[in-house]
Amino acid sequence: MRIRPRVAAVGATALLCVAATAAGPAAAAPEPSGAGAGKVSVEYFPSPDAEGRYTEVPASAPGRLTAQKRSAPDRAPARAAVGAIQDTGPTDARLDLVVMGDGYTAGQQGDFQADARAKVEAVFQIEPYKSYRDLFNIWVVDAVSQESGVSGDPTKGVVRNTALSSYFWCGDIERLLCVDIDKVSAHAARAPAADIVFVLANTTMYGGAGYSGVQNDVGYDGIATMSSDNDRATLIGAHELGHSIGHLADEYTYDSYGRYQGAEPADRNSSVHQAPHQLANRVKWWRWMGEQDPAGGTVGTYEGSGYHPQGLYRPTENSLMRKLDTDAFNHVGREGMINGFYRYAKALTTTTPTDRPVRSDQRLRARLADFDRKGIARVELRWYVDGAEVRKARGERVVTPRELGVRKHRGHWHGRTITARAVDTTSAIRDPQVREAASSTVTWTMAR
Ligand SMILES: [Zn+2]
Repeated sequence: MRIRPRVAAVGATALLCVAATAAGPAAAAPEPSGAGAGKVSVEYFPSPDAEGRYTEVPASAPGRLTAQKRSAPDRAPARAAVGAIQDTGPTDARLDLVVMGDGYTAGQQGDFQADARAKVEAVFQIEPYKSYRDLFNIWVVDAVSQESGVSGDPTKGVVRNTALSSYFWCGDIERLLCVDIDKVSAHAARAPAADIVFVLANTTMYGGAGYSGVQNDVGYDGIATMSSDNDRATLIGAHELGHSIGHLADEYTYDSYGRYQGAEPADRNSSVHQAPHQLANRVKWWRWMGEQDPAGGTVGTYEGSGYHPQGLYRPTENSLMRKLDTDAFNHVGREGMINGFYRYAKALTTTTPTDRPVRSDQRLRARLADFDRKGIARVELRWYVDGAEVRKARGERVVTPRELGVRKHRGHWHGRTITARAVDTTSAIRDPQVREAASSTVTWTMAR
């Protein structure tokens, strides 16, 4: 989904904003959708090589799926076990991805664990997820279903009693795999933190959905549903994070939307301006223009983006934000994703308190996320005394102020503040604002 719903993640107006966005492109004035409360907008891909689509669906599963043997949504989670595929740092310095399964019985929890790992591995083969994986905590919450499989598989009339009430044929669309949001939220609340939720449905049938800006008390920004045994379904999750984390626009179009007439969109991968204008005015993705792109071809301005076939341009012919027949973000998308990772997560943390003065012989510990050295991240740790870098300490994880050259001189400290700074010099960032956002610092003050 697009940016607007995400902004409206809290408050009573959130659902209305979400619903309204579905009726029109976010960059244009949304038309009244007529959607009532309890409706949300979801994105789906009718087939793995098709462009995406949006529709409105109920936030709760239909009564026919939940009427029988309904278990209280908040009782099942109380029994839910929580594990971690990786726990790399404090939740306030990490992006917390929560993975849960639906249609797995008590006896199939081992299958779920294996499926969850396989899906996570698949998503994290894709750049920039691959290189920045250590900025994520990945939690696994067990959801135990009464029956195996999900509703609507293999045919429309099939009803199964499952923990999250997942169902195909949502909105009468075969491959649209919806969930009961309250049940997802109740399970997500069991994890130490939740920024993004993946729901794996125990099925071989292709399908999925992306929800973003969903009103919830848990604090997550989006849900991606996907079938467990379909490779392309994984890409639905990778695409949806493009919206919820990367704040990227869809690069596909609807014929019915016609020519775009609005103002320049906020999305970094969609523009009313063609390449010569971008370069002359240094706007949008001008820094990438003409570069060979990981998604294929060269970066330029290709007409058709943000649902409009004319009047809006995208950076590359194809990308993961356009179709699921590629697993590559383009340069512009990558940079947006990295920017998003650092909006949630910090490369640098410390276990040495910063709220009290430090002594000259005290060990200051900097903990740097463990980036994939063969990937695209290039994160360095630098040390500064009163803002001046101590070059010889570059890369050190533990230092004392004395080692950095801090001395007492005539009763005063030469050097009052010590700063550790993680700097990401990756070539996947060209925007100085993103470069700045990719840096994190910790500062200590010397004791008198
Ligand atoms: Zn999308």
